[in-house]
Amino acid sequence: MCKSASATGYTTQQGDRDPVRVSPGAETVVSVDVTVRRCRFDLRGQVQGVGFRPYVYRLASRWDLAGYVANNMNGAVIEVEGPAARLESFARELLAHLPPLARVSELVRQDLAPLGESEFRIRASDAESNRRPEVVPDAATCADCLRELFSPQDRRYRYPFINCTNCGPRYSIIRDLPYDRPQTTMAAFTMCTHCDHEYHDPRDRRFHAQPNACSACGPTVSLRAPSGQPFPSDEPIRTAAEMLRAGAIVAVKGIGGYHLACRADREATVQRLRRRKLRDGKPLAVMVPDLDCARRLCRLCAADEEALASVAAPIVLAPKASEKVLAPSVAPGCRDFGLMLPYTPVHHLLFAEGLGPLVMTSANLAGQPLTYRDEQALAELADVADAFLVHNREIFRPIDDSVVFTYRGQAIPIRRARGYAPRPIRLAFPALAGPTGRVHSTDPAGRDSTRGPRILAVGGELKSTVCLLDGPDAILSEHLGDLTRPETFRHFLRAIERLCQLCDFTPESVACDLHPRYLATRYAQRLGLPVVGVQHHHAHIASVMAEWGDAGPVVGIACDGTGYGTDGAIWGCEVLVCYQGDFERSAHLAYFPLAGGDLAALETWRPAAALVREALGSEWIPAFARLVAGRWPALPSPPDGLDPKVLCRFDRQVAAAVNAPLTSSLGRVFDAVAFLLGLCAINRHEAEAAMALEAAAASEPPVVPPLPYELVEADGMLRVHVAPAIRAILDALDRAAAAPQLAAQFHETVARALTDAALQVARRRGIATIALSGGCFANRRLLARTVDLLEAKGVNVLYNRNVPAGDGGLSLGQAWVARWRLLAD
Ligand SMILES: [Zn+2]
Ligand SMILES: [Zn+2]
Repeated sequence: MCKSASATGYTTQQGDRDPVRVSPGAETVVSVDVTVRRCRFDLRGQVQGVGFRPYVYRLASRWDLAGYVANNMNGAVIEVEGPAARLESFARELLAHLPPLARVSELVRQDLAPLGESEFRIRASDAESNRRPEVVPDAATCADCLRELFSPQDRRYRYPFINCTNCGPRYSIIRDLPYDRPQTTMAAFTMCTHCDHEYHDPRDRRFHAQPNACSACGPTVSLRAPSGQPFPSDEPIRTAAEMLRAGAIVAVKGIGGYHLACRADREATVQRLRRRKLRDGKPLAVMVPDLDCARRLCRLCAADEEALASVAAPIVLAPKASEKVLAPSVAPGCRDFGLMLPYTPVHHLLFAEGLGPLVMTSANLAGQPLTYRDEQALAELADVADAFLVHNREIFRPIDDSVVFTYRGQAIPIRRARGYAPRPIRLAFPALAGPTGRVHSTDPAGRDSTRGPRILAVGGELKSTVCLLDGPDAILSEHLGDLTRPETFRHFLRAIERLCQLCDFTPESVACDLHPRYLATRYAQRLGLPVVGVQHHHAHIASVMAEWGDAGPVVGIACDGTGYGTDGAIWGCEVLVCYQGDFERSAHLAYFPLAGGDLAALETWRPAAALVREALGSEWIPAFARLVAGRWPALPSPPDGLDPKVLCRFDRQVAAAVNAPLTSSLGRVFDAVAFLLGLCAINRHEAEAAMALEAAAASEPPVVPPLPYELVEADGMLRVHVAPAIRAILDALDRAAAAPQLAAQFHETVARALTDAALQVARRRGIATIALSGGCFANRRLLARTVDLLEAKGVNVLYNRNVPAGDGGLSLGQAWVARWRLLAD
């Protein structure tokens, strides 16, 4: 070993073990640096509870180096000592073959004086520094565990809670750090001798796997009737599978909460689930047994398959390949199915019984947060589920399935939750310079003075997330839901408290939306901390800047349903020039009246009528009534009987500006066009109309001729007018043009109009970067066309990759803006 050997000693004793590659037949002798060196590596990132220390131990042993590896409050520290050449090989390989769940966000290397150590050790944790390590997201069952799960000779054969260092629950079971068994909900189970041995053996693949368990010592499953009484079954999973096959609805407790499961190929069964769950129209996620089955249902690209099979195991949205296999009411009116693969041993055991695709939808009642407590599940779902497949491992942090789509080879979250949260997003603050140009430095104690204030950003109102910004790390919570529901708001409060505790985070200031009636805003104002209000669309663009570490100036295109504008109007399609923590509005969709308040987002005829009124002027009523009679002979109620009398009343209301605020919402324009094309009359769930419009366009080529639009400049503001497009749609409908063609043309028109406006602003300001964000960019046709059009003009295009473009990403943008503003003060 390395101990006190002289340099020559190494060559003679261990020269044959030096990993010097000499190609066959090579005649030159490669010189090897055998000087003994010692090196320290400080690592940050996801390095605890993921098998990182055994990995380093194996690597150091392979290169015959001495030293140690230990966890600390930053992450991990490694010291290695040995001949320089081997030490360099170690350093090169260190990041090359990390364990599946490990991620290194920062590695600092330092040379030390050799100590003459002779062996490599895994040292007990030291708590020397002031930061907490990253918490690891929950991970899908790994291939090694699956092999054991189905090996009759393995001691964990068919054990529904098999896991290892590379897989299993993490975030959902952690009460507090350090990540040690007593701090998880596995504390209730004492490991048997066998498990305990695995847990303490650095060579074992279950070394320090906190949820380690087996059938002798770990959690168990049981099957219960809606009454709560256990079903008399020795094989609860087999019985549940038989019930599912026969058409039953079974509530299945998973990692982050309960799912409702049923056969996805039987219309009557899916309809029954919809009736019982009061979940009108919203597409249901489908769990498929394997990738082959997924390929039969959807047209998957390589990135889709990679996302499906990833350790995060999200729901992947992908275009339907066949409408015939699954029941029509699984995802009515959608271009996509949302598919996922089994990610817990219980799922795998269910599918091992030969089941086909299953609907696996979060078992929350409409609008309520996720159901995750056993008593709560039995109470709330007694009328919905025919049976409950439960287990006795407590869920501490309820967490939804994540939803992603792939674009240009990358999985982009629409809902960021299980498998992703709470992994920090590392922000690159450019040059780490304050607005004064002052570059912050590291103080002598090694503490980072670039941290800036600790900021809690509380997000928006729907699809809420919160963000803790601590130095360069932005920790986004999982998707929390719609805060207007009291139960969800309580969940939001609890989630903030628990996340702050887990991250040992005490906010010094708070960032929120400008909307005075958002519950999150009111909460922020009650905290007694400095409050930074951030305009909604500015926060959207800032979320992209934060992800890409671009302080601007950038031209941002923010498109969504609604956000509180600084002029009292409801914004929703904005071109902003953003720089550090500031923005300036340079262009927007021309305002139109949103008559009917909240109903305007529900009943798509309202924005349609408003836009037709703008487009046709005083003659609009007969034309609109004719269209309604033609496209909507029987409108679902409401709005029943959309006759000229109703339209006259609407006209008067708009003219008098009674309950008809002005808006630049692109989401409402999508709603309007979906109505005009006869695709959607009521948004039963958010963006139903827009999704129907995207689905209608799916059969058309990716590039189609646009409809006319206008850009008008006045008072230094560019305004995009869609009235010409609306007129063109009405004319085309009179000529009996087909809805899919018009839907595709409308997408093209929006992409061109946005591009046009943003490029004009960029050209005038001399800005070469354009950032896209806002919920409308979850529409892949719009995203792809806008990006393509902009890139064709040679600009640099940025879009969200790690957080949702919708309101789920707002908290990150708020935190970014607040940091710049607070540093400027
Ligand atoms: Zn495993
Ligand atoms: Zn055991």
